[in-house]
Amino acid sequence: QITFEGKTAVVTGAASGIGAAIAAELAASGATVIVADLDQSKADAAAKACGNGAIGAAVNVADESSVAALMALAVQKTGCLDYLVNNAGIGGALAPTGEYPTDSWRQVIDVNLSGVFYGMRYAIPEMKKTGGGAIVNIASILGSVGFAQSPAYVAAKHGVVGMTKSTALEHAADNIRVNSVGPGFIHTPLVDDALDKDAQAYLESIHALKRMGTPEEVASLVVYLLSDKASFITGSYHLVDGGYTAQ
Ligand code: NAD
Repeated sequence: QITFEGKTAVVTGAASGIGAAIAAELAASGATVIVADLDQSKADAAAKACGNGAIGAAVNVADESSVAALMALAVQKTGCLDYLVNNAGIGGALAPTGEYPTDSWRQVIDVNLSGVFYGMRYAIPEMKKTGGGAIVNIASILGSVGFAQSPAYVAAKHGVVGMTKSTALEHAADNIRVNSVGPGFIHTPLVDDALDKDAQAYLESIHALKRMGTPEEVASLVVYLLSDKASFITGSYHLVDGGYTAQ
């Protein structure tokens, strides 16, 4: 039985999709969850849906001072910060590298890569004060394979996988485990809103299981990796991809 009673978890991008499912499962397992997202009212609504005293918080993960304030808020409200899930992410423009808009490149790197760095940068000192913690960074299958028309997204996600390994080595002695998760295509607004029916059918067909995943299927892996059941797992990249990358 996994339990996070008396522990605090910060989840970014938690008002939608995968982040909302992770926040809900952590709250159901006893954690006090800080449900962080761009919009305060959406974060509040998602926190209410989680229950167990979850707290909504506004954050822009691409803004260093905003992330620093989020981690300070978590400690101020609950007294500790034990777990962090860097989940907030965006898709960005779809175009080949030779035509890729530079503003979209910067935005995707700022949110999907720098956002993960800022999260760890400001959470780790708080975790050290209470003897350790655990972090999961949401990467993607596109953290290990390429995908046409997404140079910024693929670069950011490969970066997250690499940074996760490095941070795990640096903070193992602080009793902080750090892992990344690589979902295949998952039904969330990020994907569903960007695809027509044909594109969706194509994406389903390229997973060995012939479907896309659900946010809950990602959340169960994330919660396992945060928990003490994963006490010997750090610095590694874990796929939840319906066999996408096995082919
Ligand atoms: P989503 O669009 O449903 O949710 C993402 C959330 O992040 C939104 O609530 C959004 O408001 C928030 N967000 C965006 N920019 C932010 C910022 N600057 N600061 C704070 N919050 C911000 O998307 P999702 O599919 O649930 O994606 C969650 C994570 O999973 C992302 O990192 C994404 O890259 C990754 N991922 C998704 C899939 C998929 O197929 N859905 C596959 C692999 C990886």
